[in-house]
Amino acid sequence: MRIAVGGIEHESSSFIVRPTPLESFGPHSRTADQFDSLGEANNIIDGLVKGVRDAGAELIPLYYGYSHSGGLCTPETFNTLKARLLSPLRAALPVDGVLLSLHGAFSAQGIDDADGAILEAVRQEVGPEIPIISVHDLHCNLTSTMVQNANAMIVERTYPHTDMAERALEAAALMVRALKGEVWPTMAIRPLPLFWAAAHMISAQWPMKDAVDELNNVLKHPGVLTASIGVGYQWADSPIVGASTIVVPTTIPSLPRSWRINTPAGFGSAKTFGSGSP
Ligand SMILES: [Zn+2]
Repeated sequence: MRIAVGGIEHESSSFIVRPTPLESFGPHSRTADQFDSLGEANNIIDGLVKGVRDAGAELIPLYYGYSHSGGLCTPETFNTLKARLLSPLRAALPVDGVLLSLHGAFSAQGIDDADGAILEAVRQEVGPEIPIISVHDLHCNLTSTMVQNANAMIVERTYPHTDMAERALEAAALMVRALKGEVWPTMAIRPLPLFWAAAHMISAQWPMKDAVDELNNVLKHPGVLTASIGVGYQWADSPIVGASTIVVPTTIPSLPRSWRINTPAGFGSAKTFGSGSP
C-alpha cells in the first residue's frame, strides 16, 4: 500500500499588494528527505504522515510547502511549488493513493483556485483510478475543480483551529479503507448562499457551534463516510470566494436526506447550509 503524502499550504490575500515570495516557503517546508521529522505535531501534514505510518502503509514523501499568510504568489512561484510537489510524485509512480495538505485559500496572480490547479495536476499524474484525499483549513474556498479532481476533501471543524492532526488522521483512515476496497469515496458539494463573517466562525459560539452540531448529526448517519463545512476565505477578490458543505457518502444512491445542515436559528435570511440533493 504505497501512499504519497505532500502539500502546499498558503492563505493568499489579493488585498495585499506585495506578492508572497518563494523564499517565504522556507523554515516550515519539507523536502521528501526531510519527512522523517514529521508525524508528531498537531498539523495536517504531520497527521497525514502519522496516519500512513500507523496503518503500516508505505509512506511516499513528496514535498510540503508552507508559508504564512500573505499576498498572491507570482505564477513563477506557483509553478515552482507545483513542480516541487509533482517531481517526486512522478518519480515514485505508481502509487496507490495520494494524501494532500492544501489550505484551500491558495491563489496566485491569474490563478484564483491554485488549490484546484494543484489537485488537477496531481490527478493528471496519477490517473482517474487512484484515490486522492485532501485536507483543508476551515477558511477554504471549495471549488468544482477541487471536487472534480479529489475523491474526498476533509475540512477542519474548529476555530481557533485545534483539530488539524485529527482531520488528517481521519483522511488517512479513509484512504486506507479505500485501498482495502471497503469504500470508494466521492463527493457532493453544496455552495452556500451566504457570506460568512469572520466574527461568526468561532466554533465555540453561535452560529458556528450550531452548524458543527448539525454537521455532527450528519456524521452519525451510516450512509456518510465524512462531511465538512468550509466557511470560505473572504480576503480575496475572486468569484470562488464562498462557504460550502461537502458530504462523502458510502455510495451516491445512499446519500441521505438527513445530511441537510440546517441554518442556526436567526442566521439572517439564509434558510439552510445544505441541500438534500448531491
Ligand atoms: Zn484558518
